[in-house]
Amino acid sequence: MDFNKLQLTLNEMGEPAFRYKQIRDAFTKQFTLDFESISTISKSLAGDLGEKIFPLSFKVEKILESKDGLSYKALLRLADGLVIETVLLSPLSGRWSACISSQVGCQLACRFCATGQGGFRRNLTSEEITDQVLFWKNFFKERKLAGKFSSLVFMGMGEPFLNWLEVKNALKVLISPDFFNFGSRSISVSTSGIVEGIKNLAREFPQINLAISLIFPNDKDRSKYMPVNRRFNLSQLKKALAYYFSKTNRKVFLEYVMFKGINDQPAQADELIEFIKSIEGGTKLIRVNLIRYNAASGGLAPSDSKTTEWFKDYLAKNRIGATIRKSLGAEIKGACGQLAGNQ
Ligand code: SF4
Repeated sequence: MDFNKLQLTLNEMGEPAFRYKQIRDAFTKQFTLDFESISTISKSLAGDLGEKIFPLSFKVEKILESKDGLSYKALLRLADGLVIETVLLSPLSGRWSACISSQVGCQLACRFCATGQGGFRRNLTSEEITDQVLFWKNFFKERKLAGKFSSLVFMGMGEPFLNWLEVKNALKVLISPDFFNFGSRSISVSTSGIVEGIKNLAREFPQINLAISLIFPNDKDRSKYMPVNRRFNLSQLKKALAYYFSKTNRKVFLEYVMFKGINDQPAQADELIEFIKSIEGGTKLIRVNLIRYNAASGGLAPSDSKTTEWFKDYLAKNRIGATIRKSLGAEIKGACGQLAGNQ
């Protein structure tokens, strides 16, 4: 929803100032998706607005649901014909979270990621970002899903810190009490390691959670599978994390997707421990999320569950907190690294 356009249109129509708030609240607090269903405005005003303003900046082309009913993926067609995907999932019983895309495609070309393999098309606007939230909020309400939907992760298509201006504007709208009113601590932004972005988040949104897709604990493998590491290597990442801790004193989640025989062996566990311990505050403030890879592609295969358990226990013995994250949505290709915008 383009709220600026809504306000301008209402002004031009000579509507009183409170009308804007009434309608804005209907979208951002009651999650309506059409003017007709707003009971506080007349049918004729609803009709006029409906002709001038489209509540969503995309068309919903398809919604897929996993068999267990714990994840949904939507394929959204943007006004210029490009397509993005966004996911709603329930990682914990009774808790729902939306996984939001920030770009159409991604230029960073991580070798294990379907989005990265498809290349980059363009940045999303802040409206296209917040509309994904509006869409899922409406879906959650209409489907009467059980539980609470109160968190967001910027972990869909794209690298949020390479679209910082629009992501920043979207975050402002998402946490504003006048709009969506999400708690800052209910939102997580995930990066592949864009150093400037980490610093910007620390300065501008210190209460929003930071997650970093570390995945490989040495420069050689990281540069091979994640080309972003050639621009921002692990030493630069360490400095950015130290800066982040000094500004926020808040926990950071290191995402560690486990690949069989590549980053799940004792040598990599030791490298990961060393990486964390070499950052001031690292042992206390870093938590590792271990995620089993969702597919087998590009010569990469998932670690087996026994190895994943061993890895977690080994980190714990070395005083590093780690959790094995439940992987949701793989069957609808809505899990981490699977969003490709084509199904
Ligand atoms: S993992 Fe993230 S940063 Fe890497 S290509 Fe995929 S979307 Fe881009």
